Amino acid sequence: MKGISKYTPLLNLPQGIAPFSLGEGNTPLIKSRQIGPELGFPNLYFKLESSNPSGSYKDRFAAFAIADVLANKGKICLATSSGNTGAALAAYAAAAGIPCKIAIVDGAPEGKLKQMRAYGASLYVIKEFGKNSEVSERVFDKLGEVAIENNTRLQVSAFKYSPIGMTGVQTISFELAEDLEHVGNVFVPSGGGGLALAIARGFQTWKCQHANFEVPKVHCVQPEGNDTIAGNLRKGLEEAQAVTNATTKVSGLQVANVIDGTETLRECKATGGNGFLVSDEETFECQRLLAIKEGIYTEPAGAVALAGWMKAVAAGEVDKDANAVCIVSGSGFKDPDAVEELIVHNPVSYLSSYKEMDQYFAV
Ligand SMILES: *Cc1c(COP(=O)(O)O)cnc(C)c1O
Repeated sequence: MKGISKYTPLLNLPQGIAPFSLGEGNTPLIKSRQIGPELGFPNLYFKLESSNPSGSYKDRFAAFAIADVLANKGKICLATSSGNTGAALAAYAAAAGIPCKIAIVDGAPEGKLKQMRAYGASLYVIKEFGKNSEVSERVFDKLGEVAIENNTRLQVSAFKYSPIGMTGVQTISFELAEDLEHVGNVFVPSGGGGLALAIARGFQTWKCQHANFEVPKVHCVQPEGNDTIAGNLRKGLEEAQAVTNATTKVSGLQVANVIDGTETLRECKATGGNGFLVSDEETFECQRLLAIKEGIYTEPAGAVALAGWMKAVAAGEVDKDANAVCIVSGSGFKDPDAVEELIVHNPVSYLSSYKEMDQYFAV
């Protein structure tokens, strides 16, 4: 069996649920060619979740979330999203032949909206949603009511709302456990914290089946402008906190309210993981480095883990010989506008005739 289906027996799923697949999972794990070695760290890896069918790890979620909707004879997929959950659900709902309605956070990038529209989903961008914790609560409450009326579950990529969908995200950990003898450290970009929580739980689930498996440290990396979990984890506190306004510009990580945050904090801590806060500038710089030094094209959120790893290196908190995996959670194709900064110094040359070629291509 290929892809994530082979892991279904490991997951504690209700009877009859098997992933509704579009070929998600089994993503590449690439060893750093330049960034790690240049800093004296030979064992830095990138897990390319950007290679999933709709371009982010959310496809692992959608495969199980849509299976759950279908198993319950649901007639519609109702969701909230900053872009990638929506794109994944819209794709899988299209394949399943059910309509998809998505409440979108304020400021979601045009590229992600276009992808969802292409799959035929109905989109509703709601002012201040995602940015302001109070507005976000109201949106979730309202949609929760609509979901009950429609006899279905609201699909949000968080354990609090969609535990079955999130179960699918644990397969990232299973693949890492199979690919590396000692996974060591995993750096995870976090908004609401669901991804980091799924990865921490995935390793615990793996350990239940493989007694000798050493659970890696799962580190939660957040933008400074959305510090709901990482700062408190670092301080040794036990609870996540809402931020009144998320100020980061990193799409996908603007989640002002606490969703899975407190569980994420506790389970990362239980693995020995820490919290790291990174500025948007550090994230954009890592996005640039991934492209130019590793050939990895990611949206800003997918570069946050590397920015966290850099922080850990600067603070002397990573062992030179240990493995460290950065989760590259989404593709650069998602958000073309966010690439503008990276390419300003590399303009296109427009030739008015092929006769000008000599002057440009001469070696
Ligand atoms: C959703 C998402 C995240 C963060 O997920 P949370 O569960 O909200 O922490 C990170 N990166 C990308 C690309 C995403 O789409």
